[in-house]
Amino acid sequence: MINIWVWCGMVNDSLEPDSAMLIAKARELGSCITAVVIGKKPDLADSLRGADMILWCGESARAWKKGEILTQMLKTYLPDIVLFPAASESSLVAAHAAVQLETGLCADCTDLRIEDGQLIMHRPAFGGGVEADIVCPHHRPQMATVRTGVFAPYVQAEGKQEYEEFLPKAVIQEPIKLISSVMLPASKNLQNADIIVAGGLGVGSREGFALLQELADVLGGQVGATRAAVDAGFASWKHQIGQTGHMVHPKLYLAFGISGAIQHIAGMHGAECIISVNTDPRAPIFSYSDFAITADWKSIVSQLIVRLSK
Ligand SMILES: Cc1cc2nc3c(=O)[nH]c(=O)nc-3n(C[C@H](O)[C@H](O)[C@H](O)COP(=O)(O)OP(=O)(O)OC[C@H]3O[C@@H](n4cnc5c(N)ncnc54)[C@H](O)[C@@H]3O)c2cc1C
Repeated sequence: MINIWVWCGMVNDSLEPDSAMLIAKARELGSCITAVVIGKKPDLADSLRGADMILWCGESARAWKKGEILTQMLKTYLPDIVLFPAASESSLVAAHAAVQLETGLCADCTDLRIEDGQLIMHRPAFGGGVEADIVCPHHRPQMATVRTGVFAPYVQAEGKQEYEEFLPKAVIQEPIKLISSVMLPASKNLQNADIIVAGGLGVGSREGFALLQELADVLGGQVGATRAAVDAGFASWKHQIGQTGHMVHPKLYLAFGISGAIQHIAGMHGAECIISVNTDPRAPIFSYSDFAITADWKSIVSQLIVRLSK
């Protein structure tokens, strides 16, 4: 039996969306799944579905203190594996607990699997030049932070959840004094978009990407880009999709002027429906597409904007 804990971070008293994604993956890997929450008491919301137990501690604390409490929890229950979203506060909590427990922490994983009862933590290394499988054979728990959006969230609501409150021992005096904090405005989120209008080098210019933005606005979607398009200056890095960019799972992925290199496919193959437009009928992206259109991207985008705007 493999016991897996999923750290469910809180942002502004709400659970991080990636908690659901990690519970889904944990469900696939292990037999007993615990969702760990420190902060506001979670209502047994959809985002925690799939966990067998919810372990909750009501301390409202900052990252270092949460790491301290999590360490106490881990020493008490001794799970085999702990997974965290690779978000900033969750990564701090993970690092703090790993140091306290003298175990390893593999950061920013893009895939996870179990072999012979051991967690294999997969991630690009050396700037994406190598795909590495990393293990933690001698220390427990095995700990990993996981990149946003790499797995689909849990969809089936089933099973009963147990609920347990953890009462921590007194934690040490706070070593850090918070002087002020600033909430950054929420940015439009490529990872959570239902519709993505993506462009590649074939789009040819920044002006071309402005047209893709127009189509995305009409559809209520977001613009994505290949690394080649980003390197050419047609779009900024925040739009990059793929092995060294964002991992996305939209319902609809429209790909214009994209060849379909494996490093791009790695970031978008989880899309429910892929429609691609390319002038080359042998473009590799066609073999990943539900609908393949051999045409100039601009004529298709222009027609779509006109028709969908009506
Ligand atoms: C370590 C590493 C990490 C990488 N990480 C990523 C990553 O995260 N994301 C990523 O995207 N790439 C990544 N790459 C780069 C990747 O290998 C490809 O080079 C890149 O995805 C190609 O982008 P592209 O499809 O836009 O360009 P190209 O491969 O040049 O393809 C352009 C396509 O546009 C088509 N085209 C041209 N004109 C038109 C037109 N008028 N209308 C329609 N179609 C047209 C062409 O037929 C062609 O198929 C990585 C590479 C390495 C080595």
